[in-house]
Amino acid sequence: MKTLKSMRLQIGVFGRTNVGKSSLVNRITNQEISIVSDIAGTTTDVVEKSMELLPVGPVTFLDTAGLDDKTELAQKRLEKTFKTLNRIDIGIIVTDENGFTDCEKELAEKFDELKIPYLIVVNKCDISKKALTDRENVLYTSVKDDENLVFRFKNELVKLLPEDFVNPPKIAGDLVPAKSTVILVIPIDKEAPKGRIILPQVQTLRDLLDSDCLVYTVKETELKQAVENLKIPPTLVITDSQAFKQVSEIVPDDIPLTSFSILFARLKGDLNTFAKGAESIENLKDGDKVLILESCTHHAIEDDIGRVKIPNLLRKKTGKNLIIENFSGHDFPDIKDYKLIIHCGACMTNRREVLSRILTAEKAGIPITNYGITISYCLGILPRAIRIFQTK
Ligand code: SF4
Repeated sequence: MKTLKSMRLQIGVFGRTNVGKSSLVNRITNQEISIVSDIAGTTTDVVEKSMELLPVGPVTFLDTAGLDDKTELAQKRLEKTFKTLNRIDIGIIVTDENGFTDCEKELAEKFDELKIPYLIVVNKCDISKKALTDRENVLYTSVKDDENLVFRFKNELVKLLPEDFVNPPKIAGDLVPAKSTVILVIPIDKEAPKGRIILPQVQTLRDLLDSDCLVYTVKETELKQAVENLKIPPTLVITDSQAFKQVSEIVPDDIPLTSFSILFARLKGDLNTFAKGAESIENLKDGDKVLILESCTHHAIEDDIGRVKIPNLLRKKTGKNLIIENFSGHDFPDIKDYKLIIHCGACMTNRREVLSRILTAEKAGIPITNYGITISYCLGILPRAIRIFQTK
């Protein structure tokens, strides 16, 4: 079974043209038998290769365009290359007998600025004696001839693994003691995918089971009965945001209640920033522009959350004539004209990408929040939905 893209370690491979970036990626990926996919980035010129890199785990290599190509087309490719910096967990700078030129120095500065750990691979070491003594994490090799390259590369990579990859944070299991009873409320409406449960709900269930919790899953229509059937009240109720109002009326106020999207706002972004961002909804005026930012281009349905539900809620809450625009994908549009950014639940992307978007918004002085927080805020139930995090 494929590992979710959002849970893979994203490793960006950078360097000048012909230093051996692709050869390095090919050597690493071809050495392993369990390559999961090989997607040619025909439009982005960033080639993604996903694999199980033992013992590190699921990884995706992003093989990028040459940094020193000065043609007009290459400039467009370079923009794509630099955009990957917003989503990678580890960077690899491949260089050769020319050593650490201005190109590599500029890249290393960007990594330092963004706090991305990186490894320098000096390729063609057989023909180069140029040492890079002032840098840490340097692997001297010959991608073509080094028989131990894969082992040596993995050995260096392990040293750079981010803490949240080694010890992934809990989704909800840290909010309740082991053996607690938790109710999950999952509406089966027309937004629910046929025959399955959506990813954040499945991940939350697994996380609670890992924490030895007793988990009951019901639709909102059976919630009242479920609460009444329990001899001891649940320690926590987690609901889909869209049923929040109905659920909050059923669940007594002394029982903690939150939503899947708020759990993921904490996991994939920054809960405090998002909660603060939602407060700016109050200040929106007629003609203000709001950007709804989605991390993937999913198939929009009739009652789509980002195109229909959230815009309707915002207009109802503010009573203002807002200009609400949607943007999907890894890129970040020009945001200067927006008064508020609302990010999706980010189930298909990693925390680094969301944090990088938060930083970009903060730098531009634009408040940013997310779907779950916006829904709770517009329904007037945000204080209750985040109460459980404030007691931790
Ligand atoms: S929450 Fe975001 S990343 Fe997940 S499916 Fe929706 S748009 Fe895509």
